[in-house]
Amino acid sequence: MMYSRKVRALTPYVPGEQPQNRQYIKLNTNENPFPPAPGVDELLHSFDASRLRLYPDPDSTRLREAFAKRFGLGKENIFCGNGSDEVLAHLFYAFFDEEYGPVLFPDVSYSFYPVFCSFHGLSYREVPLGEDFSVDTGLFRKIAAESDYSGIILANPNAPTGIAVTRSEIITLLESTRQDRLIAVDEAYVDFGGESVVDLVNTYPNLLVVGTLSKSYSLAGLRLGYAAGHPDLIEALTRTKDAFNSYPVSRLGQEIAVAALEDTGYFEKCRDELIAVREWTAAKLTDAGWRVLPSKANFLFAAPSFTTAKKLYAILKDRGFLVRFFSKPRTRDFLRISIGSGKDMESFIHELSCITNGEL
Ligand code: PMP
Repeated sequence: MMYSRKVRALTPYVPGEQPQNRQYIKLNTNENPFPPAPGVDELLHSFDASRLRLYPDPDSTRLREAFAKRFGLGKENIFCGNGSDEVLAHLFYAFFDEEYGPVLFPDVSYSFYPVFCSFHGLSYREVPLGEDFSVDTGLFRKIAAESDYSGIILANPNAPTGIAVTRSEIITLLESTRQDRLIAVDEAYVDFGGESVVDLVNTYPNLLVVGTLSKSYSLAGLRLGYAAGHPDLIEALTRTKDAFNSYPVSRLGQEIAVAALEDTGYFEKCRDELIAVREWTAAKLTDAGWRVLPSKANFLFAAPSFTTAKKLYAILKDRGFLVRFFSKPRTRDFLRISIGSGKDMESFIHELSCITNGEL
């Protein structure tokens, strides 16, 4: 009775398990196995805690400048939030409107998108993936040409499949759809081999690129995400954010993120190593008869050959390995396996061979 009707209608997003009482090899939430950049460690050791008395810079100036430098953009192109989930929440609020029509996204994609729609009272239309699980941008163009819609959001690479669309497909989509509807590209995983379109945000004023430090910068626990877009889009996001909290991210968060962004050498080294481990794991699974979708992310979406994905998920959990199982019809043959360290993945492959050899 005391809850608002809006709250009673909410279906929360259920994130991957974060067990607190047992040691698992955690391959279920796409965290990065490498520690954050050494500069983050140094900063935390030398940080003067008395500075936390003060509110942070409400404009996140240094942080936005660090993102802008990385992308070859200006500070006015950058918005920051507590994780890209929060940035996405503001995006759905600021740019999608039930009066314009449904939000379009693929029928297999980040499961938070329908949750944001329900939160903001928006309808949505799930656009089927192709037979090979790739995002069919041609179908998006067709639907956008034939019907009303609020905007489009694509995760690129897509999750949980890991399959990326090319930059030229996104450009074609931008060129051939309405300029007064937002096209948001969620690049949470782009650093692991996808093609970013972040440099195009001043060319296409209806393009907003969203990203995060959770994956390729090993900072999931920090909760630091960004949006890059035309200054008018950034201004709209800032308006929505300021209405709730005029300090976009914490003082410590801003400083840690700058330290991580500045160390491009460490970033590239970890990224390259992770990609090599992903390719090694994909080859091992393929050799063992699994169907492995071509991934440009820090995870694999793969269907086991010898039992159902659901059963294998449970067996693996029992044996100390957490992976992710999605029960929707199109995804239930697959497991999403985050790429851990080389050692984690060797243990994982070894465990699988024990399971298949019947050593249960
Ligand atoms: N987008 C996609 C496609 C994701 O998979 C995730 C991670 N669950 C996010 C955004 C959110 O990441 P974060 O809030 O940690 O930045």
